[in-house]
Amino acid sequence: MKLAIYPGTFDPVTNGHLDIVERAVQLFDAVTIAVSTNPAKNPLFTVPERIAMFREATRHLPRIEVESFSGLLVEYAAARGASVMIRGLRAISDFEYEFQMALINRKISRGLDTVFLMASEKYTYLNSTIVKEVARLGGDVSCFVPASVNERIRQKLAQS
Ligand code: ADP
Repeated sequence: MKLAIYPGTFDPVTNGHLDIVERAVQLFDAVTIAVSTNPAKNPLFTVPERIAMFREATRHLPRIEVESFSGLLVEYAAARGASVMIRGLRAISDFEYEFQMALINRKISRGLDTVFLMASEKYTYLNSTIVKEVARLGGDVSCFVPASVNERIRQKLAQS
């Protein structure tokens, strides 16, 4: 069985992330979405919230699991039995960092290859940071994120 992992912060999951997952399930037997616990990024949503949002957003998709991970990604991938890591590419600006990470990961773990998928061009400008910024300033982000995420952003910002 070919298991792929799709790691990220997903704070929160956007339509761009979902587009990548929808492509990945067509290519692999199973996809595990690995939500990074890395607190250095100072996320808006907790890890359990980010996991719950991704689960809600992928209910329509088969063979998907959503989990958290901490520590070295290559070790997590090995423990899960994944041989492929998926990353999304939006623009040339993503390339340098992603290229470095893919090569480092390959060096420290021979069994793991990175597969880059391109989201639809509709989402090339989209990331979680811009969604949060627009929402904080009172903008409507409903066309950038799944409906359940839009609702959670509204609730979270109302609390703070
Ligand atoms: P990280 O903090 O690890 O970059 P992100 O949640 O920002 O986590 O992104 C996870 C992955 O999803 C990365 O490979 C990123 O390039 C990809 N990604 C994010 N937004 C998009 C998008 N709009 N289109 C395609 N890929 C995307």
